[in-house]
Amino acid sequence: MSETRHTKTLIIGSGPAGYTAAVYASRAMLEPILVQGLEPGGQLTTTTEVENWPGDSEVQGPDLMIRMENHARAMGTEIIGDIINDLDLQQRPFVAKGDSGTIYTADSVILATGARAKWLGLPCEQKFKGFGVSACATCDGFFYRGQELIVVGGGNTAVEEALFLTNFASKVTLVHRRDELRAEKILQDRLFKNPKIETLWFHEVVDILGTENPMSVEAAKLKHTKTGETIEIPCKGVFVAIGHAPASELVSDVLETHNGGYVVVEPGTTRTSIPGVFAAGDLTDHVYRQAVTSAGMGCMAALDAEKFLAQTE
Ligand code: FAD
Ligand code: NAP
Repeated sequence: MSETRHTKTLIIGSGPAGYTAAVYASRAMLEPILVQGLEPGGQLTTTTEVENWPGDSEVQGPDLMIRMENHARAMGTEIIGDIINDLDLQQRPFVAKGDSGTIYTADSVILATGARAKWLGLPCEQKFKGFGVSACATCDGFFYRGQELIVVGGGNTAVEEALFLTNFASKVTLVHRRDELRAEKILQDRLFKNPKIETLWFHEVVDILGTENPMSVEAAKLKHTKTGETIEIPCKGVFVAIGHAPASELVSDVLETHNGGYVVVEPGTTRTSIPGVFAAGDLTDHVYRQAVTSAGMGCMAALDAEKFLAQTE
């Protein structure tokens, strides 16, 4: 028989947004339950050094997330290793079903399910992820001072990442599968004016070449999308910037979303279109997508939930 658990505040997701919401909700005596999902600790567990978390000039992503988990637990959050596979936000209390069979009922819900970078889907990409292949120039650009880099994509993110990487790299090649960028014109202007950036049209990455000991990228193999001709260009890093996908599948049919699935919140708050349901972190944010901004929104979500519960009691 399935167990049913009730809580004032159910937090779904265990990245910086979820754990920060948990700390604040616990201290507000909301006795929250946090469900961790498939990736306990979230995206930062997939990286190594994090150098922009305030208070730590360098911290390993997985270590930081263990500290956040311990902090949330110490404040009184019940942390559960489960995955929510169904969420009913049309009835009160809200009802969430876990893969474990547990049913969670909640007076308020904080959604902190994050977003995932889209990847090219090449086996070599998996192999070199964290060792020359990245989806986050802000996070990893610093490690490539004086090196040649490739950025893949033609949207705002790719152009912004290419521009940002010129702060470190000796040369950046933007590889795009068409001959037209999606990026805003103002960004395109900056891109084309930047002497460190070369744009390679009609090309896609088909392989990433490197060494295994030490694990290091040395070149990318590119294919012309029209002629099929392949070339190899030397590079120490490949930044994949082909879009991010928010993990909003649970709520995309009931909550307002925009920009490809990001949950809409009332500006300056974490309130979604359903009272009592709050969203924080990368799930709602297609612009900043940083650990510290996610944590900030997690804090806001707990405070918003506390206020909502006080008003409805
Ligand atoms: P996430 O970290 O994405 O966490 C989402 C959580 O939701 C996960 O725990 C997942 O298990 C859970 N979840 C999803 N679906 C369900 C479900 N159905 N049921 C239950 N739980 C669910 N930012 C920085 O500021 N500095 C960096 O150096 C940095 N480096 C990065 C390196 C890499 C490789 C990547 C990918 C990102 C990096 N970022 C960095 C970005 C940063 O990781 C994100 O902005 C941040 O993690 C977003 O936090 P979040 O809490 O919104 O979501
Ligand atoms: P995006 O706009 O969806 O662009 C993705 C790019 O990657 C496109 O150029 C696409 O090519 C390319 N691409 C997709 N799949 C690919 C694949 N498998 N192989 C090779 N190339 C592939 O994504 P984004 O740039 O991350 O932007 C997402 C949203 O955030 C947008 O709404 C954007 O405006 C917004 N954003 C805004 C800012 C800002 O305001 N400063 C900054 C960043 C992002 P095609 O063009 O051929 O489809």
